[in-house]
Amino acid sequence: MNLIENLKKGNIPDYLLSIAEDEEVEVGYLVENIIKGRIVVPKNAFREIKKPCAIGKGLTVKVNANIGTSSDYADLEDEIRKLEVAVNAGAHTVMDLSTGGDLVKVRTAILEKSPVPVGTVPIYEAAVRSIERNGSIVEMSEDEMIKAIEEQAKQGVDFMTIHAGVSSRTIKILERKKRVLGVVSRGGSFLVAWMLHNQRENPLLERFDEVLEILRMYDVTLSLGDGLRPGCLEDATDEAQIDELFLLGDLVKRAREANVQVMVEGPGHVPLNQIEANVILQKRICDEAPFYVLGPLPTDSAPGYDHIVSAIGGALAAYHGADFLCYVTPREHLGLPDEKDVYDGVSAARIAAHIADIARGNKKAILRDSMMARARANLDWEGQISCSLVPEKTKKMLLERSAGTGACTMCGPFCAIEIVKKHLGTDIDVC
Ligand code: SF4
Repeated sequence: MNLIENLKKGNIPDYLLSIAEDEEVEVGYLVENIIKGRIVVPKNAFREIKKPCAIGKGLTVKVNANIGTSSDYADLEDEIRKLEVAVNAGAHTVMDLSTGGDLVKVRTAILEKSPVPVGTVPIYEAAVRSIERNGSIVEMSEDEMIKAIEEQAKQGVDFMTIHAGVSSRTIKILERKKRVLGVVSRGGSFLVAWMLHNQRENPLLERFDEVLEILRMYDVTLSLGDGLRPGCLEDATDEAQIDELFLLGDLVKRAREANVQVMVEGPGHVPLNQIEANVILQKRICDEAPFYVLGPLPTDSAPGYDHIVSAIGGALAAYHGADFLCYVTPREHLGLPDEKDVYDGVSAARIAAHIADIARGNKKAILRDSMMARARANLDWEGQISCSLVPEKTKKMLLERSAGTGACTMCGPFCAIEIVKKHLGTDIDVC
């Protein structure tokens, strides 16, 4: 039995108790909302996870880090180091998006070493195998697509992006209403190319029940991919994106009926003034399924700083109700991230999540900022390091220019905090 089936029978696994404690919610709240489909706990039935997490309604905002090889750069050791950096920086989940080297070997190593849930996009492996065997993606067989899902589920993957919402109907919209950037989702582009070449419907949509049965058996959380997500501001919230969203809403219903945990992926490149509307639409159309946003990026024009761009969009999306932020690294649009990019990407996304948690009224998040403010008021440098979301960086920057004092040197003898404290003669109590 999978988690939903167990919960419906009244069996509550121990890991749910620790998640409830960590989130400061009643376990009954988790149970009720997992059954309703408003919270998911990505965890394969056959994998032990040291740090499982719950994503969705009323919980803290979670962060995912994408790692994995490309055909141009495939080094297993590098990916393992990136996994460690991502987890140490506070990523709640990782996705292995490998498309280069020995895919099974890379995934096996990541699954073995990851203390957090691991996600994948199985169509990548099916496409790579098809290129190896047939020389092209469009020759991929339907069975190969299903087989990749089954093999990865058996291997222990906790959540999977499945682009079942890409349909012939949406492709007709794309043909009629040309976009600036067409299709920017990798999985979405594979399927669109396959469907146009073979003049067939999306096999992941046609064989969706079969996919659900595999996911149900292994308790893999379904992450419905947004193959038509906008790749630039001009394409945002257009007919193709919203048409796919309506189909995703139907697929959410079918997944819930099949006792499969499901969340929905979202944009992408979206102007700041359209982010709230995107969250409301997703929540309404998909009956409050957890929303996993890829950014969003509210400007197209800052390659090199896209982690900051996506943190701005992510904070706003999460404030309006998005549940799960996929990090974006500074190297987005430019290349495969290195370890520093991964650290910066996770840190930026965690800061965005924390900002949203405060605005959503999360007590722990609010307390952290109160403690930081008091540590600042008391010129307590160690306290500031321990309250920081990025303690290593905080410590490094403080000590680099502290001239051996371990204190901030920005204003020299004119430290406003010190001057006023001296004259007011007050110490601020710690929380
Ligand atoms: S020296 Fe200036 S920047 Fe540093 S803590 Fe004091 S007031 Fe703030």
